[in-house]
Amino acid sequence: MNNSDYPMSPAKRLRTAQRCGARTRSGGVCRQPAMKNGRCRLHGGKSLSGKAHGRYKHGQWAKEAIEQRQGFAALLRQTKQLLREHSRSNR
Ligand SMILES: [Zn+2]
Repeated sequence: MNNSDYPMSPAKRLRTAQRCGARTRSGGVCRQPAMKNGRCRLHGGKSLSGKAHGRYKHGQWAKEAIEQRQGFAALLRQTKQLLREHSRSNR
């Protein structure tokens, strides 16, 4: 087993870290080393998200809430469509 990289030096960790990837104002991509959430310290890497964030209000626009509403809307659409087809064929 090759343990020559353990513990990895801070410099090497920086060099091999994932990159941020945020869009920059000049149209390019941010190449700063990313933090745990995939963004660098300047592009939200340090920010808390969801309930942990100090300005969290109600979660109405949380990914899950939006998906849930879209799911209900699709179900409602399908149901209405079925009802339309059913009432047409029974005439
Ligand atoms: Zn960045």
